[in-house]
Amino acid sequence: MIRYRSTRGNDETKRGTEAIIQGLAKDRGLFVPEAIPQLPFMPEKKSGTPYAYTAFHIVRSFLPDFSEEELERCIAGAYDSKFDAPEIAPLARTKKAWFLELYHGRTAAFKDMAMSLLPYLLTTAMNKEKEGKKVVILTATSGDTGKAALEGFSDVPGTEIVVFYPKDGVSQVQERQMVTQIGGNTHVFAIEGNFDDAQRGVKRIFGDGAFGRELASCGYRLSSANSINVGRLIPQIAYYVYAYVKLLEYGGLKAGEPMNVVVPTGNFGNILAAYYAKRMGLPIKKLICASNENRVLADFMQTGVYDANRDFHVTSSPSMDILVSSNLERLLYHLSGDSADRTAAMMEGLDADGRFSVDAEIREALGDFYGGSADMHETEAAIARLYNDEKYLIDTHTAVAYKVYEDYRDASGDDAPALITATASAFKFADSVARSIGLSVEGDGFANIRALHEASGAAIPDALRNLEGKEIRHTGVVSIDGMADAVRASLKGMK
Ligand SMILES: *Cc1c(COP(=O)(O)O)cnc(C)c1O
Repeated sequence: MIRYRSTRGNDETKRGTEAIIQGLAKDRGLFVPEAIPQLPFMPEKKSGTPYAYTAFHIVRSFLPDFSEEELERCIAGAYDSKFDAPEIAPLARTKKAWFLELYHGRTAAFKDMAMSLLPYLLTTAMNKEKEGKKVVILTATSGDTGKAALEGFSDVPGTEIVVFYPKDGVSQVQERQMVTQIGGNTHVFAIEGNFDDAQRGVKRIFGDGAFGRELASCGYRLSSANSINVGRLIPQIAYYVYAYVKLLEYGGLKAGEPMNVVVPTGNFGNILAAYYAKRMGLPIKKLICASNENRVLADFMQTGVYDANRDFHVTSSPSMDILVSSNLERLLYHLSGDSADRTAAMMEGLDADGRFSVDAEIREALGDFYGGSADMHETEAAIARLYNDEKYLIDTHTAVAYKVYEDYRDASGDDAPALITATASAFKFADSVARSIGLSVEGDGFANIRALHEASGAAIPDALRNLEGKEIRHTGVVSIDGMADAVRASLKGMK
């Protein structure tokens, strides 16, 4: 049975169920599998199987402590008609690349792919581990995770969910999605700071032993729905395998032929899932990591130096406005030969100086990756190009990936079939997308959703329709230092 250990090594190994409940290791490292399983089936033999089939087998190979019946129930509950595409993750073909549309779930962004499943995994794990306490999901969001987590956990028995988002760092639509969230166990706060501040604040709360004891005495324990939770990460591996099966079916690939994978990257969760898929034996050639102006990862891939000491840019792809990418820690751990000591040393450097550099061995292992970036102007141009030439509408995040892929292909001549993960509906970032395709952008985000619909003829996702009329239920704004008190105020029986 695969067990999970901390990337920093100072926590005992855990069952998958325990790692999911706990979220973050006690030494502030992230849980990683002690071994990476091989693909549970040959993709060329699975033509015609539904998404749930791949999801079941991939998740099961990482979480064997769930019984087949339990996991079947989880998967059936997660990937159903709440997705507005029967394929769950449909593929779209364009001239240069395939787009894997991961935005057909409840909040119109790719976070739904994992967040639809996580509440089922967590509550099933709580039953198995006879967890007596209420689990408090604490989440920092750059915009999309928060809403997806709120939808996933709304009124889930035995849980409370508290979400912190940067006050001026999310789009109007993203904010409205969160502050109108229903559910008696949902709590949403804007913070005076950016996403990195929010993420740091959440990690600090996790690391605060006294606060943890205070929670425990009131019958609560903390967990996370961010991609620092392995329960978020593992379901994401499935869609890469599914895409490969589908590409074989559509003739986009031949059995065993490698594909390039292009991922618009922020916290490094999505691309890390692709890395795990590659390690499982899925034929992936390059892992192409696309950044916006916050190009800390692109620089890292190119130089081996990770340096977060730089200006933070608020861009048109806000879910990637991140300078400290949590899941990179997991990659460093694996690339260092599963060395917790070396990983901990790099992370200490990051904590102390905001930077670290990798040794020659890791540098070489990074050869599987390519990093590039696109600025806002290039992002707009990429949206316009694809829309004008092929009538295919992409959002700003996906457009960053598309532009970086074009650059990579031009520079390298590598024209292996490419899979680009399309991480949000264009309607979720309607202001930028409408401007990119030349619509006059005068109204607010909601007016632009309508304008985009009228111009393109594309359907507005359910998640965004009628958002304007919904009641605003969450209005709290807190400082970074006020985050723990906000958690206290949210939970009955604490003060
Ligand atoms: C979260 C998000 C990303 C970044 O994904 P990571 O897993 O954090 O790297 C990219 N695009 C969109 C639309 C997102 O919501």
